[in-house]
Amino acid sequence: MAEQESLEFGKADFVLLDAVTMPEFMGNLRLRFEKGRIYTFIGEVVVSMNPYKNLNIYGRDMIEQYKGRELYERPPHLFAIADAAYKAMKRRSKDTCIVISGESGAGKTEASKYIMQYIAAITNPGQRAEVERVKNILLKSNCVLEAFGNAKTNRNDNSSRFGKYMDINFDFKGDPIGGHINNYLLEKHHLSVGGGWLGGVLLVLNFGSSETVLIVRMQKYPPAVVLSLQSRVIVQQPGERSFHSFYQCSINDGAEFKAVADAMKVIGFKQEEIQTVYKIVAAILHLGNLKFSVDGDTPLIENSKVVSIIADLLSTKSEMVEKALLFRTVATGRDVIDKQHTEQEATYGRDAFAKAIYERLFCWIVTHINDVIEVKNYDTTVHGKNTVIGVLDIYGFEIFDNNSFEQFCINYCNEKLQQLFIQLVLKQEQEEYQREGIPWKHIDYFNNQVIVDLVEQQHKGIIAILDDACMNVGKVTDEMFLEALNSKLGKHAHFSSRKLCATDKTLEFDRDFRIKHYAGDVIYSVSGFIDKNKDTLFQDFKRLMYNSSNPVLKMMWPEGKLSITEVTKRPLTAATLFKNSMIALVDNLASKEPYYVRCIKPNDKKSPQLFDEERCRHQVEYLGLLENVRVRRAGFAYRQTYEKFLHRYKMISEFTWPNHDLPSDKDAVKKLIECHGFQHDVAYGKTKIFIRTPRTLFTLEELHAK
Ligand code: ATP
Ligand code: MG
Repeated sequence: MAEQESLEFGKADFVLLDAVTMPEFMGNLRLRFEKGRIYTFIGEVVVSMNPYKNLNIYGRDMIEQYKGRELYERPPHLFAIADAAYKAMKRRSKDTCIVISGESGAGKTEASKYIMQYIAAITNPGQRAEVERVKNILLKSNCVLEAFGNAKTNRNDNSSRFGKYMDINFDFKGDPIGGHINNYLLEKHHLSVGGGWLGGVLLVLNFGSSETVLIVRMQKYPPAVVLSLQSRVIVQQPGERSFHSFYQCSINDGAEFKAVADAMKVIGFKQEEIQTVYKIVAAILHLGNLKFSVDGDTPLIENSKVVSIIADLLSTKSEMVEKALLFRTVATGRDVIDKQHTEQEATYGRDAFAKAIYERLFCWIVTHINDVIEVKNYDTTVHGKNTVIGVLDIYGFEIFDNNSFEQFCINYCNEKLQQLFIQLVLKQEQEEYQREGIPWKHIDYFNNQVIVDLVEQQHKGIIAILDDACMNVGKVTDEMFLEALNSKLGKHAHFSSRKLCATDKTLEFDRDFRIKHYAGDVIYSVSGFIDKNKDTLFQDFKRLMYNSSNPVLKMMWPEGKLSITEVTKRPLTAATLFKNSMIALVDNLASKEPYYVRCIKPNDKKSPQLFDEERCRHQVEYLGLLENVRVRRAGFAYRQTYEKFLHRYKMISEFTWPNHDLPSDKDAVKKLIECHGFQHDVAYGKTKIFIRTPRTLFTLEELHAK
């Protein structure tokens, strides 16, 4: 139980609620938010409310208050959970992980950074240089990854458009000696279309020898400068922006540009590498300015000057860029011919190229960071086990007005994580009761495995059906995919479409289908599913990049080495790659001792004052927080080792104060409990006492305070 400050601030642990009902839960959540108490426990889970203002609760003094303390000894805080994960790792040599979930703007990334800062602050008392280097890189990597992977969206000014899992490796002393980052599905379909990509025009590109300088003159809506790529590298909703990196080489985000370039230097990026990074960003901007037209049947590039700028930036030749944009090499039997694109194909190719080089750049940055923090020279036979704390900051459940392939993947990811949460929270409780020899009472949950199966099952699931559709030769359309879904999933309780249910008014369009997710119903439009899943990038572009005279670029595109006749293997689809990475992620998390941070967004206005009851309740519902409290209470609200329990409460009984003469601590605790008449509310495990209701603990606390 968290130390109670005062009831004026509400209950520090939701298990202390008088009754586990939604109104009680919401009442406590609101009270704490309004009093600036943004963290509340549910046992070992931290529920975090985004305060939307800077709170003075992350400083050195706070860190000192949490360092080495037990979870329940201090008021709820991210530091408490970080310390618990760290202690478990250090004392018991357990690999642990901290899973941070919540919807966009709920505060996951901020939380992950505070957790990393805490770990960095409490480790390496000996100030070893190598450990300091690793810590510094781990912290600096956030700045770089956010510049290239985050964007302003309508929900969050700094929205992570990729999922991130970071392992921090520790040596036997408990100091960080390395790490590894896995990134998931960058929403590259987020560059921008139409209406002026950045509303500006790149005028001068000056890659001086010492400093990379990109000068961009901003003009208001210049009609000639329209970047028309799709997705985040290309289309955003009104009011949204592309990735921060694109603005940082413009005038308005200059300070950030410097910060990112400095962070890259600290991490160990060489000057040529940093230049290449920004050359790629600039090349993408210019790609967006390319205009195609047709002369008869022949597509042409209207502004060939732009082609030569792109060629320069990518260290290749204009003719080659032009050829890759307008033609496609195809093998027909033994012949290899250059097939001319239609205007539409050329536009598609250009957009796919821009997105692909951005995605490749992002992955390369991650790989580069991994190279410099990889654990080297750690001999487990000499130094003992190298343990790990993993931190997962991954996109939350998304329901937009328009949901597409990306939301489908993101929501599937959340189904997987919810499934893991169910299994681990139940499993962990169950295992603890078994270990301690205490009977376990089963709690009913909505088990979302059925939805996980709907998406990922072999041969039958939505991803398998999508892959099948993409495998068909000839022109496959999104409609054909929907048709296949209808015929194969028509009877599934969590799937519906207009065709299956014509009377359903919520399904407005023929192209929509609906999945009943654990967190709510989401209507997806099939438009773009096939293209995004195939994720085709013409081989010509890969060869173009491989043949670049810039060695960094060349390295990013190893598969461009293959000639057309050698390319036969069909690459895995985007959805299957994502599915595989999710399965691997969940397996990895399941092998570790998990700690959870459940983030809640108080309102959609980014306001520090407003507690939007409706929005908060929905999040509490789909995060399964009430069930979480129930599980915690149906078992035992509180458990503690006999030794620690005595340490805290021995003064409330004459049998134990100042010391006891009973055969064991367990016997002493029994005596203490019986003399206060609590014996019906407790169970005695092998090493711990379990207390069922919070009230008993309250009373103990009151006695303790007297
Ligand atoms: P997304 O899924 O879009 O990446 P997220 O859950 O990672 O969203 P954050 O970027 O962490 O959300 O938080 C959004 C914004 O909310 C931050 O930029 C910051 O302004 C504010 N915020 C979040 N947590 C805190 C905090 N603990 N203290 C102060 N402000 C916060
Ligand atoms: Mg984020």
